[in-house]
Amino acid sequence: MHATPTDAPETAAPRRVTGPSAQAPAPRPCPVCDAATGASESPAYAACGACGARVSLVPEGSYDADYYYHGPEFDRRCRARAAVQVRHLRRLRRAMGSAAPDGGPLRVLELGCAKGFFVEAALAAGYDARGVDLAEGAVAEGRRRGLEGHLFTADARGELPAGCGSEFDLVVAWELLEHMDRPASFLATAAKHLRPGGWVTGSTPNGDSSWLRLLGRTWHGFDIPQFHRVYLGPESFATAAEDAGLAEPLTLSATEPAGDFLVKNLATGLARRWFGSDSRPLRTALAAGLALPALCAERLAGHLPALAGDTLLFAAQQPSEVPRSPIAS
Ligand SMILES: [Zn+2]
Repeated sequence: MHATPTDAPETAAPRRVTGPSAQAPAPRPCPVCDAATGASESPAYAACGACGARVSLVPEGSYDADYYYHGPEFDRRCRARAAVQVRHLRRLRRAMGSAAPDGGPLRVLELGCAKGFFVEAALAAGYDARGVDLAEGAVAEGRRRGLEGHLFTADARGELPAGCGSEFDLVVAWELLEHMDRPASFLATAAKHLRPGGWVTGSTPNGDSSWLRLLGRTWHGFDIPQFHRVYLGPESFATAAEDAGLAEPLTLSATEPAGDFLVKNLATGLARRWFGSDSRPLRTALAAGLALPALCAERLAGHLPALAGDTLLFAAQQPSEVPRSPIAS
């Protein structure tokens, strides 16, 4: 996958979809469970009445050079996020109850690693970590930071390059699943890199969250339907995992760090909803007022049901004995 196909950064120009495709989106069955979809909170998305997924109705955008955001400010955020992702992985591992078979460091492959900030943080935390990304420039930059032998250029949806390894304990995808038109197909491909009994895991914006319900069409996740194709909730993730031939699907609630992402997203959504504007002074004022509650939300989210958090942590296990999913072949 392309480098850092994550959230819409606040440093970039808004990428709202306008024009005919946003006015008259084509109907589309649910790519997770094939059920019919109906109106959702946003005109650019449909909601699946069966599994709860939110499904983009506009054509997929192309991941051209400007999709990836360079610059020190974005790198700083990615580095901060990597530390959060290592904590997310610790929580997920507790839920999985998994350990490396020989007691050694867990072998982790990150799909869509961009410049390798998570791989770097995971190595520091004691994992044997590798990453792949389609963006050669991002991978080269990560290698220059000392990650030679750990980062590789490859499409996350394809085969792994020589030297990257195979039979990983964990394959992780942070904020990548929402970019896939067919989540089950992506999960099945990711599972090909696992040892029997290994886990596919990661995070994705929670398509069935309290935040989405609170913010409605102003939810930040609805901003880039040309890139964010499907938002899964707990139920739709379980369906996609099962279709991918994976077992033991589990989901956990999380939020992004309060001081950074949640405050900005929530402030932007509420500014749009309450005042019809997302001007910087308005967002700043709202963010200031929301800082304390948001900080509490970050701490509390881990103790709440999966629907509560704006971010969905997920995991599903490659069965030890069962043949792999036909979707992946
Ligand atoms: Zn569905």
